[in-house]
Amino acid sequence: MPHTLTRWLPFLANTRTPFHSSDTANAPQAWHPAWLVVLVSVWLATACNVPLWREVAALPDHTGLRGASFGLAFAVIVAAGNVALLSLLAWGRGLKPALVLVVLMAALGTYFMLSYGIVIDASMLTNVLQTDVREAGDLLNWRLAATVLALAAPPLWWLLQRPVRPLGALRHVAHNGLLLLGAVVVLVASLLLVFQDFASTMRNHTQLRYLINPLNSVYALGHIATKPLRIDTSTMQPLGRDAQLGASYAGQTKPPLLVLVLGETARSANFGLNGYARPTTPLLSARSDLVSATNAWSCGTSTAASLPCMFSHLGRDGFEGRKTNSETLLDVLQHAGLAVLWVDNQSGCKGVCDRVAQTSTTALKDPALCPDGECSDPIMLKVLEERIAALPAEQRARGTVVVLHQMGSHGPAYYKRSDASLKRFGPECTSNALQECDQAQVVNAYDNSIVATDHFLNATIQWLETQADKAQTAMVYVSDHGESLGEGNLYLHGLPYAIAPDVQKQVPWITWLSPAMQSRSGVATACLQKDLAQRRITHDGYFHAVLGLMDVQSTVYQAEQDIYAPCRNTRQAPMAATTAPNTAHARS
Ligand SMILES: [Zn+2]
Repeated sequence: MPHTLTRWLPFLANTRTPFHSSDTANAPQAWHPAWLVVLVSVWLATACNVPLWREVAALPDHTGLRGASFGLAFAVIVAAGNVALLSLLAWGRGLKPALVLVVLMAALGTYFMLSYGIVIDASMLTNVLQTDVREAGDLLNWRLAATVLALAAPPLWWLLQRPVRPLGALRHVAHNGLLLLGAVVVLVASLLLVFQDFASTMRNHTQLRYLINPLNSVYALGHIATKPLRIDTSTMQPLGRDAQLGASYAGQTKPPLLVLVLGETARSANFGLNGYARPTTPLLSARSDLVSATNAWSCGTSTAASLPCMFSHLGRDGFEGRKTNSETLLDVLQHAGLAVLWVDNQSGCKGVCDRVAQTSTTALKDPALCPDGECSDPIMLKVLEERIAALPAEQRARGTVVVLHQMGSHGPAYYKRSDASLKRFGPECTSNALQECDQAQVVNAYDNSIVATDHFLNATIQWLETQADKAQTAMVYVSDHGESLGEGNLYLHGLPYAIAPDVQKQVPWITWLSPAMQSRSGVATACLQKDLAQRRITHDGYFHAVLGLMDVQSTVYQAEQDIYAPCRNTRQAPMAATTAPNTAHARS
């Protein structure tokens, strides 16, 4: 619509409003850019910070006149912060596009904070940036459109009608400098007035800082953009280049085949197997030959945070403080000479499988398993045999490790994550605006997705059992993080680890070892069933548990981190275990 474009583009290009272009006598007076900045900042600090002010109003220690003056000073601080930020962006023709962008960003941020109880930090924004089109589509709904319209339309409408007074370059620099200085003075003065209250509030309620909109997003973007300064991303540190196969491979009759199922958004609390009141895992619960660790904890609260951490040798603390990126668990397995394959039914492996064979099943066309353009997890089993057969024969003869990356319980459209034949609980929430549904309906849809995972894991074990004549098999299933289902008005996941509720961090961890794998690895299921029933374990142990199970010997392997080590009796050649094996790595 070229006509519409010519009506709108001149606004953005900062010229006179075309509503009056033929009638210059009636044209509104041109505004100094500073006014636009100040007024938009006030709108941002008020309307676009409802989640923040709601939290501040609910603070128990802020009541009466003192509470009100604290709130007021806080609002002035936020507004002044916005002015300071926007004064840096307010340059001539760039002013209006910059303000439009910031307003839209703030409106979107407000919607997600209000609707899902999330906060915005670098890790959350990394998730957003790594989201694929289908995942984004799951989040779009009318409520989002209405919220963004309500928060962004009034200032944008107003803004686009203001003609802006052009300033010469030098005056522009001077005026922006004054605006910035003024904003900083107001900010500091307000801060000093309530400093005691402000300092203690920010210390005791750390989540507030992630609610200050849109400074939270700008800060997070800056954090991501400056990451190369903190982590040397240009080099990839080699890892485990000394890796060798242990003595269990000498003269082996059949090679080992380990399937690592990487779960998505499955929380331990909703697994029938782990004591949940509902029978969400009927097939797994009926098996006596597997082990479910009920006290297992994730490394992060999102896929982007957990995945690279799980496959790293560093553990959570070491991974967060790393100065360079390293090769991963999959590289070490490959260095040892094993065949390694990553099968992805989700949005990718976040870099951990970059140097091993990989295949994606998301775009396959299978009428039964991929209705409506989305493939359910069992599609991975359908292609598995053929994809494994395509790996180098020499490596397969030694042994194979396959990762199956599930779609699992990925939200918010949980109802899409289970086939109609597997739906046990109803009615389901069929909206992606979860807050529109009763919490019970959200839980019903989520629980059905766990039933689907139960079905998938059982099918994986059954498939491995059919391979018993060719390989010595095992399956290890761990989820990347948990999920909030409306408890305390929180939804989804991705809260900063320190303030995230346990349901976002406690994950299912299920181990199935075939009899052949038990004797091969020296790890007995019966022992694990006792040892892992209560013991606290974390993703920190994943890297070492897999190396231990596959009998890969390397200096990067640490027996004291290997969650299966306490149950390993004599294997042909004990690994370089230096510490007493009973020190489960715990984090409180
Ligand atoms: Zn995830």
